[in-house]
Amino acid sequence: MIKVTLPDGSVKEMAQGVTPMDVAKSISEGLARNVISASYNGTTIETTTTLTTDGTLILHTWNDKEGKKAFWHSTSHVMAQALEELFPGIKLTLGPAIDNGFYYDVDFGDQRITDADFKKIEDRVLEISREKHEFKMRAVSKAEALEVYKDNEYKTELISNLEDGTITFCDHSNFFDLCRGGHIPNTGIIKAMKILSVAGAYWRGDEKNKQLTRVYGISFPKQKDLTDYLELLEEAKRRDHRKLGKELDLFHFSQKVGQGLPLWLPKGAALRERLENFLKKAQKKAGYEQVVTPHIGMKDLYVTSGHYAKYGADSFQPIHTPAEGEEFLLKPMNCPHHCEIYNARPWSYKDLPKRYAEFGTVYRYEQSGELHGLTRVRGFTQDDAHIFCTPDQLDAEFKNVIDLVLYVFGSLGFENFTAQVSVRDLDNPDKYIGSVENWEKAENAIISAAKDKGLNYVIEAGEAAFYGPKLDFMVKDALGRSWQLGTIQVDYNLPERFDLTYKGSDNELHRPVMIHRAPFGSMERFIAILLEHTAGNFPIWLMPEQAIILSLSEKYENYAQKVLNLLENHEIRALLDNRNETISKKIREAETQKFPFMLIVGEEEEKNGTISVRRHGDAGKSNQSMTIEAFAALVNEEINKTLKQF
Ligand SMILES: [Zn+2]
Ligand SMILES: [Zn+2]
Repeated sequence: MIKVTLPDGSVKEMAQGVTPMDVAKSISEGLARNVISASYNGTTIETTTTLTTDGTLILHTWNDKEGKKAFWHSTSHVMAQALEELFPGIKLTLGPAIDNGFYYDVDFGDQRITDADFKKIEDRVLEISREKHEFKMRAVSKAEALEVYKDNEYKTELISNLEDGTITFCDHSNFFDLCRGGHIPNTGIIKAMKILSVAGAYWRGDEKNKQLTRVYGISFPKQKDLTDYLELLEEAKRRDHRKLGKELDLFHFSQKVGQGLPLWLPKGAALRERLENFLKKAQKKAGYEQVVTPHIGMKDLYVTSGHYAKYGADSFQPIHTPAEGEEFLLKPMNCPHHCEIYNARPWSYKDLPKRYAEFGTVYRYEQSGELHGLTRVRGFTQDDAHIFCTPDQLDAEFKNVIDLVLYVFGSLGFENFTAQVSVRDLDNPDKYIGSVENWEKAENAIISAAKDKGLNYVIEAGEAAFYGPKLDFMVKDALGRSWQLGTIQVDYNLPERFDLTYKGSDNELHRPVMIHRAPFGSMERFIAILLEHTAGNFPIWLMPEQAIILSLSEKYENYAQKVLNLLENHEIRALLDNRNETISKKIREAETQKFPFMLIVGEEEEKNGTISVRRHGDAGKSNQSMTIEAFAALVNEEINKTLKQF
């Protein structure tokens, strides 16, 4: 008998040689129907793998990440089979599952795959799936594997790097593939499949290697899931920040300025400024001080900080000056500069914590193929801050930072988020710098802060950086996609490298602890995510213009101007559209520009001293007539709904 421990802690005594599917059946038939993969003692296995030792079993269904991974990876085998049938002679390479679906990298040789082939491939995948072929793992010797794939240089390379005795193939139908495992029980549960796109991809991601064709696909256990997913993709396209950025006149990219270097247009700059001021105001209340540092620094600064070792070779190269021997780097991080600000004078424990904040622009080289709108750029501005404190202050400082991050998320309408606490791998203490005592203090500070603040968090052992533990926030947007925003990181490394000190109550010199934090992450990426989350309908407090006044004709210009002045007195940001255009055209354009309110003025309004209020997206509803005062009260009420006091 073996002991099988389940995630709820219960232990089942089972006969040696049972399979995960047997265990599922012993729990309930319903569970057994839904189980699609499993892991045992942390290793992914098949539902048919026999269990021979004691261990911890997790049964995966479509509803969890591992289950989806097995589902999608298995479909990639079926797609590879269909591709081989339809394009004889192609060479298969690798076909993993990804966050949304899977891909297979294929060398098509002289053949070409186009959009017109997608339907054929999808139909064949579903045909094979309906035949309910089981996925079965088979061990093969290295010699045999090399012989089988002697005409496929890619698989040959993969096999050469594997150890004899560890090599397995996966069989289904009349198809086999080199594979480590992790499949669904049979093809029958694949009910819907779609090829999403094809793209070029270098073998093993190396530009020097041959370019292969990456075929992206996705599959589902129900047709309805696929329909929903495709709708979501369409909505994501409509909300693409690159498209909205253009429509709303927020930012622009110029090939002359350079790839990945966004240009902020007046409206986008105003939006950024509003976000910056919002955070600056909260930071001021939280005791931060603003600092300003240059965009470049001596190469040695980054050698000291260790950033040169990390970014140097793969990033922008040093700038040489006319004077010999001088080398400057574009700043990849703000931290070293802030360390030197701290070092500008001696500190006593009574002076700490010091909290230095800066909207600091940094530059990192990204390959042109990696650039994407505002989410992957070569120059971006972090809402950066560094807190220098004593180890005893860490707990309170951490809680304060969490409060600030939660305030930021709440005010911007991100209600759905989780947190991840990354701590040491206790089995590998040599990987980390800093004393064990300090690490314990820091980890306990983060965990107790996360607990106290009621965060929905998970602890990940071994995920900490070598220089300190951290807390990351994962935010779900309106389309259910996860984004990593807001990092709070403890650092024992830079205080060491920059020899930062403070005088303790014992009159001795001590090292402060450093916290890096950025609630937005970067202004560019944050605005991109916010655009896609809100589809450009930002919270009203953030809107560059909260209302637009639309006059029915030029006759009402004076009254429209008066309304604009009154709104200004109420601190409402508004524009006036007094063009000699039809009102329906003006409304249409105002809708595209996403003004939250359209205020229509004509004869009636002028006579009564009112405005006719129409909300964005309220087509078909009748406008509301109200006074300017009533409208101002309405706007303020909406603002207070999202923008709370910090
Ligand atoms: Zn496989
Ligand atoms: Zn930093």
